Amino acid sequence: MEGQFDKRNRHREVTLNRMEPYDNRANRNGRRKRQSRATAILLVSMVLLVAACLGTLYYIIRIDAKEGVTGMEGLKPEEVRGEPVEKEPGGDTPDDTVSDNTVPDNMSSNHTEPGSLTGEGDAKDKLLIVVDPGHGGIDGGSSREGVLEKAVNLEISKRLVKKLEELGFEVLILREDNDTDIDKKERVVIANEAKADAYVSIHQNTYQEKDNEVSGIETYYCEDTKGSEKLASLVQKGAAGATGARDRGLKETDGLYVVREADMPCCLVETCFLTNKKEREAIVTEEYQEKLAQGIADAVYQYFYPDKK
Ligand SMILES: [Zn+2]
Repeated sequence: MEGQFDKRNRHREVTLNRMEPYDNRANRNGRRKRQSRATAILLVSMVLLVAACLGTLYYIIRIDAKEGVTGMEGLKPEEVRGEPVEKEPGGDTPDDTVSDNTVPDNMSSNHTEPGSLTGEGDAKDKLLIVVDPGHGGIDGGSSREGVLEKAVNLEISKRLVKKLEELGFEVLILREDNDTDIDKKERVVIANEAKADAYVSIHQNTYQEKDNEVSGIETYYCEDTKGSEKLASLVQKGAAGATGARDRGLKETDGLYVVREADMPCCLVETCFLTNKKEREAIVTEEYQEKLAQGIADAVYQYFYPDKK
């Protein structure tokens, strides 16, 4: 049995040995075919994957770009109540057109927790407020003793944004650093396209001659825009009331671009005179900026919700 088995086995081995080259070739051919098919599938998959990635990326970039431009598209502003009101007394109008831009930005930038008020705004249908820190980039605004207007404007504006958000508003700030150049036209275009419900521009005043005799807060508006006078009046009272600064009253003008061209109730508040030593020293402090921001934010709130609080 053993012998026979061996013989058969040997025969099989021989057969197998003889068959081997052919089988190997066949196997190799098959493998090659399979390999090339796999490579082709892999290549096609990779191409499809890359195409899908690029498509997704393009889509994301487009969405981002769209949102970047119009921002708050989805937020439909609600009722804007802006009935004209009594005219406020005005003071003398000092010069606010200085715009030297040589002094470096040396403002303190401490942010503290503001004394918050109750946020009563409706979360799903928020009103949109544009906060405009005057000047920026190469346009430093006015300056005195190393205090640069664009920097002061930004500090107050950032605090104002926080306060407004605490009160339930959606806020769009027009620049977030002191290097950004943004011209008046662009500011208005952004606000108008965003269909903002109100626009508040923050500036600092100067008076060339009697430096320390002139001080206080004044607010500009254009009577052609519905609601602006009411908003300006409340902002003026709010800012002066919160700080105890001299209330210089309202100024009606069609000479200030943003105030004239913004579609929504708009005002420009000059929160101090950089030429006045006392005010200049106060305006760079955190406490004073906080008071100002709170006074202005409360005024905006009062404009939209006159019956509350
Ligand atoms: Zn200014």
